[in-house]
Order: sequence, then structure tokens, then C-alpha cells
Amino acid sequence: MQIPIKQFSDYFFDEQSVSNRTSGLRLQISTVCTAHCTFCMNNTNPFEMKHIGFRDIDEIEKILYSMPPSNGVLMFSDSTSGRLISGEPLIHPKILDIFQLIRRKYPHNYIQIITNGTMLTQEFLLNMAAYNPINLDISMHSVNKENWHSIFNINKEDAYNNAINSFYLAKQYGISVSARMVVAPHWFGWNDIEETIKFLSQFVNRITVQPLRFSNKVSNELKEKWTYNMDELSDFIFNTCRKYGVMYIMTPDSKEPLNIPYALITNNLRACVYQQIKKVYWLTSRDAYQRFNDLIQALGRNFPVENEVRIVENKTFGGNVSSTGLWLLDDLLPTFEELQGQTVFCPNNFLDNYGFDMNGINIADVLKEYKIDLRLLEIFKD
Ligand code: SF4
Repeated sequence: MQIPIKQFSDYFFDEQSVSNRTSGLRLQISTVCTAHCTFCMNNTNPFEMKHIGFRDIDEIEKILYSMPPSNGVLMFSDSTSGRLISGEPLIHPKILDIFQLIRRKYPHNYIQIITNGTMLTQEFLLNMAAYNPINLDISMHSVNKENWHSIFNINKEDAYNNAINSFYLAKQYGISVSARMVVAPHWFGWNDIEETIKFLSQFVNRITVQPLRFSNKVSNELKEKWTYNMDELSDFIFNTCRKYGVMYIMTPDSKEPLNIPYALITNNLRACVYQQIKKVYWLTSRDAYQRFNDLIQALGRNFPVENEVRIVENKTFGGNVSSTGLWLLDDLLPTFEELQGQTVFCPNNFLDNYGFDMNGINIADVLKEYKIDLRLLEIFKD
């Protein structure tokens, strides 16, 4: 028997749509995109990802039925990096029918749509407004037409105009708007970033700034253009967003405190004291090392346990990727080998709900090979 709900992606269904371990309700409906961004992780992942196309409306109906009741936001196409290819939700041929189905189950919830804005004509926005409250999260990496075209690689003349005009029109139709910017200051220059923030600050409630991440798969020429100093970028974004009075989130931000509950650290250290463990190791990424080490040493002051923080590099992705969420188990093996017989704390945000990494290797199988007291830390997954 073929279960209809499994046709698009049982993985996304299990992991995102009905999982209560994520920060909101998620529904991915498309792996097709109108753009061909140079930095799109769809093309530069170190492993194959599946292009599935459009999720069938019959399947969407059943997924909505199975999703839990909630007062939270329902997010479109906000997939987890490396897990499932991302796409443009608004080109789904049945998009308005999908809105209708959503409103049957979730009449009041905000629908958050990450979009490149190229489909947002006046007519489309007017039709969409009937399903408010909606928040459009529009990717606008540069407000300059020429730069915009070289980033998105779309040849259609009206694509840029649709994206730009959508900021003016959405406001008229009562649709709230936020924006996303992938930034690399040596690509189109600091001034281009400032001009884009200045433009966006007239319309948006928030800008999500994403420093450009690239894997080893990109050319040396691009690597050179895309390399930057994270502290310098963090200061620039802070000062520019202040100047134009706009709220922002930068992910990652080397100057922001880590989002880790203190109790997660202290409860584990307390357990080590009871178990008479004298020394423990904590694993983290290069980006987070300084902040994480400061936190561990500060919170560990009252416990008679020695703490050592170790960096695990994102060797599989390479490039400038430095994130625990993008580790693969292969990246961790040398550290497991070296720390045999030790107690090691390791964030679990690179594993899915079943303990598989993005390459389909399971932590339980790996641990059979190593005599290590590995304790996984339940870190917020997004
Ligand atoms: S708009 Fe998003 S999904 Fe489409 S190519 Fe660009 S980065 Fe990839």
C-alpha cells in the first residue's frame, strides 16, 4: 500500500512538519526555484540533495490534518540546511488553494513565507491579502539592479521590478514584510550593503542578515570575493541598522552571546560532581569557541571539575563554514579517537530526531566503535 503522505518527503514530514522539537510549524511545498543564486547551498553542498518538485495538494491536505494545534507561526519553505533542498514556495501552481487549506485548519496564525519576491505582482499580492495575516520574508541581498541580477541570475526583466515593488504594494494590502540579506562586503562593497539596509528600513519590521557561507566546492575567485572578517561585519551591521532605525538579527553573529540555557551546563556539571568525574571536554565550532569557552569557564567556577573546550572543524563542508549544526559525524571521528575514555559533551543539533547526520550515518552506530562517555546536549534546532 502506498501512503499518500509519503510521496513528497517522509523525511521532511517526520523532521519538520509534525516534529515538536522545532521552533514552529513548518511546511515545505517546493524544491523548484525561479532563481539560480551563486551561493545557493542547493548546489554547493558536499553531498547530493534530492530535487522533488512541487508537493502534491492532496498530500498537503493530509499533512495539515496531522499538524498539531498551535498559536505559532506557520513557515513555508524554511528547510534545514543540508537536509532538503530549498525552493520558492510562491511558484507552486496551486498556491492559492494551499492558502485556503491552511486557513481551514489555522484561521488566525501568521503564515510566514520566505520568498525571493520575483512572483509578487500586484495581482498576486491582492489575491494573497485575502489570507492575511501573512508575513512575507523577502530575500533582498542588494537593492542595486545590476548587483541583484548577478546574485539571483534571473534573466527576466520584470523579476527585479516585482521584488522591489512588492515592498511598496505589500504595505498597501496590509501584508507585513521582513527581509533577508545574504552579505559578503567585498563582493559588491560596504556601500551596497548600506544602501540596501537604507531602502529596506522604510518597509520592514526586521532584517535577517546572513553572512555568506560557502563550502569548498566554490571557485577560488569566488572564495576571495566572499571572504570577510566576521567582527568587522558585525560592527558594520550594528552601526548601519542603528543609523536607519531598523531591527535586525544576524546569524551567526560573532559579537552576540550564545543562545544556550545556563542550566544545561550547570545541571550537567552537577551530575559530573555526583559521579566523581574530575575532567570533562566540551565540543564546539571555531566560530563559537571564544564565547563558549568564556561561558563554560564562568559557569564552571563553583564545580570541582576541570573543563576543556575543544574545536571541531567543519572539514566536510570546508570553505568558511563553521557551525555545529553543519557538522558531520566524519568531522568528529578524530576527536572521538583522541578522547577515548573521557567524558565529552557534544551539541546534538547536527543530528536529526533519529540520531542521523546529514550523510545518513547514525551516532549510535559510530559510538559502538569508540570507548567514549559521550553526552549529547539538547541544543535548540532551527
Ligand atoms: S532564491 Fe533561495 S532557493 Fe532560490 S536559488 Fe536563491 S538561495 Fe537558492
